[in-house]
Amino acid sequence: MDFTDTMGRLAMNIVHVGYHSTNYYVIGNSHVQLLVDAGWPGTLPEFLAVLKRKNISLQQIRYQMVTHYHPDHAGLAQDLKRLGVRLIVLEHQISAISLLKTITKPVDRYTPITLHDNLLMTTEASRSFLSSIGIAGEIISTPGHSADSVTLILDQGAAFTGDLQNPGFVAESAMELTVQSWTAIRALGVTTVYPGHGPVTMLSAHASVA
Ligand SMILES: [Zn+2]
Repeated sequence: MDFTDTMGRLAMNIVHVGYHSTNYYVIGNSHVQLLVDAGWPGTLPEFLAVLKRKNISLQQIRYQMVTHYHPDHAGLAQDLKRLGVRLIVLEHQISAISLLKTITKPVDRYTPITLHDNLLMTTEASRSFLSSIGIAGEIISTPGHSADSVTLILDQGAAFTGDLQNPGFVAESAMELTVQSWTAIRALGVTTVYPGHGPVTMLSAHASVA
């Protein structure tokens, strides 16, 4: 069953499909499913097993996006592309995709992500693209943990923040960017944070350093 929000749009269900201490989320309704972060390298059977347990068929997941191109967040992106899941890439993430190939070892069984066949867009264009697939929200740049880090914001108040940390826990050098990123997230009316690791939190839990 679908539920609509106060503006009559379909609210997104959020299903946690993580494993190995990393959170992945399938968001969507009966019309569209988007995967946020794409598994550890070489773990496709485990990923598919989690989907099965959560009653999600891979065919329903039409799109995937990666909060930042570290192995635990982007490891299966290419494997999933081969299975028909389109990869949304923000333009400023391209160099991080190339870098990921160089930091993985053969033992990781990482399938390198090809660059020519993604849905490439700017953060500015993300809202209209998401709207075209039935998702009310946008993707914003939220550096701090890494330069390519992005956050998916749903207008219903959810933010998928990847590894953006609490400013109280980051090194001095990352502090300013991290604070700016949280400020940008707050400005969009986010109430609930879905991180790449650890539990879902209410945004007020991050309020101490701003
Ligand atoms: Zn991570």
